[in-house]
Amino acid sequence: MLPAPSQPYPTSMPDLARFRAKHDAASPDATETPTRSFILHVDMDAFFVSVELLGRPDLRGKPVVVGGRPDQRGVVSAASYEARKYGIHSAMPLRTAGRLCPHAIFLDGHHQKYSEWSDRVASILAKFSPIVEMVSIDEAYLDLSGTERLHGHPFAAADKLLRTITQQTGLPCSAGLATTRLTAKVASDQAKPRGLVWVAPGMEARFLAPLPIRKIPGIGEVTERSLRALGIETVEQLASHTQEKLEKLFGQWGTALYRKARGGDAYEFLIDAEPKSISHNHTFGEDTSDVPEMESLLSHLSQKACKRLREAGLSARTLTLTIRYAGFDTYTRAKTLPESSQLDSEIFAVFLDLFRQHRDPKRKVRLLGVALSQLSHGGQQLDLLEAGRREKLEKLTKAADHLRDKFGFTSIRFGGSLRRED
Ligand SMILES: [Mg+2]
Repeated sequence: MLPAPSQPYPTSMPDLARFRAKHDAASPDATETPTRSFILHVDMDAFFVSVELLGRPDLRGKPVVVGGRPDQRGVVSAASYEARKYGIHSAMPLRTAGRLCPHAIFLDGHHQKYSEWSDRVASILAKFSPIVEMVSIDEAYLDLSGTERLHGHPFAAADKLLRTITQQTGLPCSAGLATTRLTAKVASDQAKPRGLVWVAPGMEARFLAPLPIRKIPGIGEVTERSLRALGIETVEQLASHTQEKLEKLFGQWGTALYRKARGGDAYEFLIDAEPKSISHNHTFGEDTSDVPEMESLLSHLSQKACKRLREAGLSARTLTLTIRYAGFDTYTRAKTLPESSQLDSEIFAVFLDLFRQHRDPKRKVRLLGVALSQLSHGGQQLDLLEAGRREKLEKLTKAADHLRDKFGFTSIRFGGSLRRED
């Protein structure tokens, strides 16, 4: 059978981020934020719409959608606040937006123009702090600590900054000032549109407490669902759980959640959001057609990925195998399990199956990769009929993870990958 054309390879957490997450997890107290820091998060209001309105002032105050026509296939890239009242939001199919608000004005996007305006905004920001980090086309963090002598108190500086942007560009924007990035970002969101919110030092937890958990950056649909199942809907409720409890439920992500609920900072740079997929791949030194070698490598990759999965307290449902042949043709094959898993043996069996079914034996292989996606929190549902067997497997897996942590990854491998060691 011919393999299907290559699919976009799922991205995993950047290696550096993971390294630092692991490094810091050992000594979380070393990452406390100094109390006198002033972080400003600046976010342009409905940026693409606002840029379009510069040339169409007649559309001000009307429901405007940027992204294309309502009979086109694409998605909304921005919606004015008036359009949002109808339930329209970015990433929604244009057709849905058209149905929700048939009298909305639909405009095409002009990305070149947006990045020019973004540059103009960035150059204004640079006048207020030497440390500016643009995190997207319409959003930036500024470190205003130590700028008092030049610009006055950071709150006054922030107010002046927003006025300068509006005067010089005509574009509306909002900002949040706080001691941490996370709190500053939530504050700017609460300030919208055309607002400025300052969360004074020591007020972070109180400011965040009444908000729904989804307002916390990095908490997506998957985490929200898991937290709701535990009866946790607000940040206050999340903050009432101990670090140990959250780590037991969510692994490393639990540590991040614990800090996030308190407006904590350092950590959310490291594990910023729930992972979308976990992947590992390996390029052979020399293209190969040695089947036992390839199969033991596959076992090794799959075990590495599974270990990360368990560390994050996750299970996976979709398993994707990548095969790249000599000459760089790349093929992926995926299988979705009836139930998500985090067990080495089950996951490896699927990868092995995919490999045996889809590898073209006439071609030499350059790279093999495995990816785990459709992730969800918590261990898998125990299959009651097989509870005894699963329990054994889970115990074995945990013991193996423990030994790997202690002695390095290569000390423990299950069956298939032993050959690589000899
Ligand atoms: Mg924005």
